[in-house]
Amino acid sequence: MRARALTAALLILATLTGCAQSVDPIERLGRKAAARGHEPAPAPYRRWGLTAPPAAAPAHPARVLPGSPGTGLPPVLDHVPTTDKVVFLTYDDGAERDPRFVDMVRELRLPVSMFLTDSVVGPGYAHFARLRSVGASIQNHTLDHPVLRGLPYAGQRAEICGQQDKLRARFGLRPRLFRPPYGAYDATTRRAAADCGITALVLWRAAMGPDGLAPAHGPRGPHRLRPGDIVAVAPDETTGPVLRERTTRLLRQVQEEGLTVGRLEDYL
Ligand SMILES: [Zn+2]
Repeated sequence: MRARALTAALLILATLTGCAQSVDPIERLGRKAAARGHEPAPAPYRRWGLTAPPAAAPAHPARVLPGSPGTGLPPVLDHVPTTDKVVFLTYDDGAERDPRFVDMVRELRLPVSMFLTDSVVGPGYAHFARLRSVGASIQNHTLDHPVLRGLPYAGQRAEICGQQDKLRARFGLRPRLFRPPYGAYDATTRRAAADCGITALVLWRAAMGPDGLAPAHGPRGPHRLRPGDIVAVAPDETTGPVLRERTTRLLRQVQEEGLTVGRLEDYL
């Protein structure tokens, strides 16, 4: 009985093996690949609410940094003078630490710039290390977010150089860009920033808030993007994680106006 059962089992095994070998393994792999090719490819931009992938930024940025001839002080910019069809996405303070935002930056390859304030980030630097590892850049936004304008040199320098030191300790980098809190600065700010290794003060020409994109200066109303615009995506402390949604809305507008997102550090 046992021998007969064994023979039967071997026969079944041989048949199965024979079946499996009837298709060449390499051929089988090819068939699988072909089958995969017919499946709809996962499109990250659709996951993030866009109808088209973000266009690539120019490989060779047209840099036209004005500088401040004769003063030796870093320029103050709310836009980059360039003819490239790019705008720049900037984020301030470091209050919101949504892990999904890291996914968004990675999947859409968004070259965003994060201006960090030490007292706001607090123990949350790991989040920004993750953001940096997926392509975000880290820049300076003071230690404690004061209004710098009118403060004595020593105080302004301590705020700016102090955050340079923190960011160097955390990330091993020394930022070149600085955003004064509230956009408030004076000549002392520029001098202190230069002495801390800053090469440009970065303001913004438009802000993405709860009601959409608004100009930073001038009459209220919707802002039409222009090449070189620096856009601040405003955090909202009251309603929770909204940076993703605001970024999606902004990206839709960027695409509608025939623009794409550039890396600010490539231009400044
Ligand atoms: Zn701020």
